[in-house]
Amino acid sequence: MRDVLLVRYGEVFLKGTNRPYFMKKLLDHVKEAVAPVHGKVWLGEGRIYVADFTDMEECIRRVTKVFGIHSVSPAAEVEKEDFSLICRKAAEMMSGLTGTFKVLARRSDKRYPLASPEIMMQAGGYILTHTKGLTVDVHNPEHVMMIEIREKAYLSVLRYPGQGGMPMGTNGRACLLLSGGIDSPVAGYMIAKRGVEICCVHYHSFPYTSERAREKVLELARELSDYCGPIRVYVVPFTEIQMEIHAKCPDNNTTLIMRRYMMRIAEQIARQEGATALVTGESIGQVASQTMDALVCTDQVVSMPVFRPLIGMDKSEIIERAEKIGTFATSSLPYEDCCTIFTPKHPTTHPIPKQIEESESVLEREALIKRAIAGTECVRINPGESEI
Ligand code: ATP
Ligand code: MG
Repeated sequence: MRDVLLVRYGEVFLKGTNRPYFMKKLLDHVKEAVAPVHGKVWLGEGRIYVADFTDMEECIRRVTKVFGIHSVSPAAEVEKEDFSLICRKAAEMMSGLTGTFKVLARRSDKRYPLASPEIMMQAGGYILTHTKGLTVDVHNPEHVMMIEIREKAYLSVLRYPGQGGMPMGTNGRACLLLSGGIDSPVAGYMIAKRGVEICCVHYHSFPYTSERAREKVLELARELSDYCGPIRVYVVPFTEIQMEIHAKCPDNNTTLIMRRYMMRIAEQIARQEGATALVTGESIGQVASQTMDALVCTDQVVSMPVFRPLIGMDKSEIIERAEKIGTFATSSLPYEDCCTIFTPKHPTTHPIPKQIEESESVLEREALIKRAIAGTECVRINPGESEI
């Protein structure tokens, strides 16, 4: 008898001829996730199993962060030949609980002498007579003792939800514009959840933004890497570009021109990285630079598609998601962002692309971008290594 984890994965995307490819990726990611707690991972019938870990709680925490995993249950693995042993173990696992319960049985070993209804009846009866404070409710129970007869018998009561989504690396690569705010980490999480590998670009304006602002962004990338695995963050010096825009362009257009520069640089870095799309944390109407007209004007300077997973979300919904994935606390640290430093008093909300083009034509675009990219630093972020 030993403790194992039963790991359930989504069925939908695992159908068809791509199944072995998805399964291999998923299995590899579970193995990577549990390596620090020395978990042994294998694939059974319709389940992934993890055993021999040094720390069950930590192991569950890690597996539930793997994209493509739907739920995880800690289970007791019991020899199935002796049914009385199964009943005793089931009663032991239920003994601390009160309220209503039922037993559910699933028998994938069809040669097993007891059919599922018999397993449910007999184990249910045993639990009822050998525990205190539990009554049966087959329709709406508070606790479900799940008995699965597979290679061995697996008994579980608890179920921890996973992230869902698709295995990381099964859907290409995108480049996330990562600020220190609340939105962009959530956007990165949402795109990565669909199996897209991400790299990040961050613009910093030293000395107007501090070293701590930079560290905050690296910490956000680290928090994302707990889900996605190692991430490369390109830290781009943006001071010169911002100063030039500020000095030479009409005040009400500066934010938009700055955003166009961010896009252009991100596209170049994305190409170097083999990424085929850009991702931002924008949502329609959130600020002046995110009106429909402004977004259209921003997109015009790049040929790559720009994905905005938060486009239809309210700020409160984004915050809720940030709290859930664990990035909210870091995002709420007070350090300044480069956008907030040169913010105009009356930013354009309905820009006309021709006019913006004209406003920015005074800048030496090629040279500015070239210098920013030449000064870019690439930082590799690994899961679990806190930067703050
Ligand atoms: P966030 O909360 O992610 O900072 P926001 O609501 O503050 O977003 P903006 O500052 O207008 O919105 O930025 C919109 C998007 O532009 C961000 O979600 C991010 O994708 C990108 N962005 C903004 N500032 C930076 C930066 N310094 N480096 C990289 N990307 C940035
Ligand atoms: Mg921001």
